[in-house]
Formats: sequence, structure tokens, C-alpha cells
Amino acid sequence: MNIHEYQAKELFASYGIPVPKGYAINDRNGIESALAKFGDNEAIVVKSQIHAGGRGKGTFTTGYKGGVKVCKTKEDAKAAAEAMLGNILVTHQTGAAGRKVNTLYFTEASKIQKEYYLAIVMDRSSSKPVIIASTEGGVDIETVAEHTPEKLVKVFINPSLGIRPHQARQVAFALGFKGDTQKQCIKLLTSLYKFFWENDCSQVEINPLITTPEGNLVALDAKVNFDDNALYRHEKIVALRDFNEEDSKEIEASKFSLSYIALDGNIACMVNGAGLAMSTMDIIKQHGGEPANFLDVGGGATEAQVTAAFNIILSDKNVKGILVNIFGGIMKCDIIANGVIAAARNVKISVPLVVRLEGTNVKEGKELLSGSGLPLVTADSLDDAASKIVKLVKSAA
Ligand code: GDP
Ligand code: MG
Repeated sequence: MNIHEYQAKELFASYGIPVPKGYAINDRNGIESALAKFGDNEAIVVKSQIHAGGRGKGTFTTGYKGGVKVCKTKEDAKAAAEAMLGNILVTHQTGAAGRKVNTLYFTEASKIQKEYYLAIVMDRSSSKPVIIASTEGGVDIETVAEHTPEKLVKVFINPSLGIRPHQARQVAFALGFKGDTQKQCIKLLTSLYKFFWENDCSQVEINPLITTPEGNLVALDAKVNFDDNALYRHEKIVALRDFNEEDSKEIEASKFSLSYIALDGNIACMVNGAGLAMSTMDIIKQHGGEPANFLDVGGGATEAQVTAAFNIILSDKNVKGILVNIFGGIMKCDIIANGVIAAARNVKISVPLVVRLEGTNVKEGKELLSGSGLPLVTADSLDDAASKIVKLVKSAA
């Protein structure tokens, strides 16, 4: 689960991590009163709140440039706010469709001496949190990782020990901090790790972390992701969820315990098992098609779940064909076939449907499918299924 920058900064502040003061609004009528909280000669930053980065360099579909604007006067801030709120912002992370800005965050502007990068992420290969820091902040960190990986410092944290003082010092030294700034950095790292750990984060990122001309550290941006599997023990964090930022199909899928992720292609897939779903997507691509989604219906999918899955898949207007790929292991193929048939009857399927079944009772399952009278195509192997659906979708185009 993701949260907005303003929410992340409020949480940071409660852990003693320095952030600029700020006010969030979600209504045009709130602009004036939010700006009234700033001093008359104070510069103000107007920040679009969407769950995507690259806002500063983004462009609105109205043509207005910049989803983050540093404004010298309240008049400028008001104009920027009016140009942003309610409009669609496109950044390199939103895809071409962009995201509607429903919330704005006004913060006091900080004077920047230098921008740094700081993150803590869960490293899956070592099963440890890792601190990633760089003197090259503000810019796209992926570019730094690709072209100048030596400018990234990584410090792995033993989860049973937590961050050790020497590890915090190692990061502070690597970023070149001296004197009081170094002390601030060590404190900030310790607090950030505590926040990361106590809230079951999968990622916290501060880009940029800045030094002010006075040598103070401030988190100027904040991106936080939580591990969905641990949300059950964080009621307060779940309350921060913003459904406007999530794909409606993904919200619907979560109600039926389906693992669904919307993608850009036109061939929908319905598969049992995450690994099989990944390989199905790969093989569709290998045959020249583009998957419209990742969908794992789980090992023991019921008819209701399969029906919900068809509905979700078909609510995506880009879908021009469906590939059902089920391995009958715990579940038998004939039961699955009945589920698919019943669901396909409940839901009007107007695009080609290819079904590949394998495993226990596959013969009975295939007989049920071919005797169902539904306009579906059966396939023998995953390769066969992928090639059939790609051909059907291409010939219909
Ligand atoms: P992002 O583009 O979505 O990553 O949004 P950020 O919050 O990181 O803002 C983008 C950029 O705007 C930052 O990298 C800074 O260069 C600039 N910026 C943001 N806040 C301030 C501020 O308070 N003062 C100044 N001078 N620049 C800022
Ligand atoms: Mg940023």
C-alpha cells in the first residue's frame, strides 16, 4: 500500500524526522485559508499529491508544466494551485493516462545547499533491510544506479539487531557530512529505520534529502510503501489508504481475494498460481501478444471467484481476448471446467476465449468445455494456447 507525500511527512514528523511545515487541501475553497497560514514574504511550494514520482518534471494534460512549483508570492502559489487541483498530471511514472490531482500540499520552501538521496528498502535476496544513500539526490536514482553505481552506498541491516551506530556513521561519512550535520544524519537514519521497522514498510524513500545553507538536514520529499501482508496490524495506516489512487479493477479484485494487476496489453489472462501466471504472461509476449493483466485466482478458486475474475477482466476496455490457463493440482480439471462454463454463461463474453487445462481429470474437463456449446477454443499446451489467443486477437483486429 502506498500513501501520499503529505501523509508520509506527518508520520515522519511523529518520529522526529525533520520535514518542512505544510498543509494539505482537497478543495479549491481551501486554497486561500491554507495560504493564509504562511507569512507574507515566505516562499511556498505547491505540490500535487499523487501516488507517483517525477511530479516536478511532469506536465498537466492542460499544458501546464510542473506538478511541484516553488512560488515566491502567495499570488503565484494561488495560481499554481488553481492550475493543478482537479487536473490530470502526467509524469514518467504515471503512464500516458496520468493521474488526477485530488489533493494539494502547500509547504514552506526550503533553501537548498545540496540534494541527497536516502532510502531504506526490503532487499528480498538477502532478506534484510538495506539503506541506500547517494550524494546524487534530486535526480532519477535509476540513472545513478545505471551509469554511476559507485555513487550509491548500500548498508545492509541485520533485522534482529536493527541499525547499529557504526552503520549510521558509515552512511553519514559516505555522504560527506561533518560536524553537526553528521550528528543530524545519524539521528535521522536511526529514526527513519525505526519508522521503517515499526510500520512494516517495504520502502521509504527521501529524494531529495537536503542540507540547508545553515547545515540542517530536511526531508523535502517522502515516499512510503507498506507491506500489504502486515497491514492487518496497522489500523492507523490502513485508514490512510486513498482509493482514488488505485485501479478500480484492483480494488474489486481484492474484495474477492484475487491477485490482479492491470497492465497495458489487450490479452487478459486468468491463471491459478502466481508462477504460472508469470510464465503465461511471458509466453503471450513470446508469441507477439501483450498481456492486459496479471491474475492469479489461487489454488482453490470458486465459481464466484472465477465469475468475478471474468467481470474484472472484461471491465478493461482494452481486452480483445482471454486466455484461461489452469493447472488442476489440488483442484480437479472437471471442477474448474464447470466453474469456467458457469462463469462464462453468467458473464457475456464477446471476445475470443482460449482455455488450456492440464492436470487431474483433464480429459473430463476438456469434454465438459467442448460440450458446453460456448464459443471457446481449447488448447493442449501453454505454447499452443498462447499462439491461438494471439492469432485470434490479431485476426479480429
Ligand atoms: P518529485 O518530482 O515528485 O520527486 O517531487 P519533489 O518533492 O522531489 O520535488 C521536485 C523538486 O522540486 C525537488 O527535487 C527540488 O529540486 C524542488 N523542490 C521541492 N521542494 C523545494 C523547496 O522547498 N525549495 C526548493 N528550492 N526546491 C524545492
Ligand atoms: Mg522527489
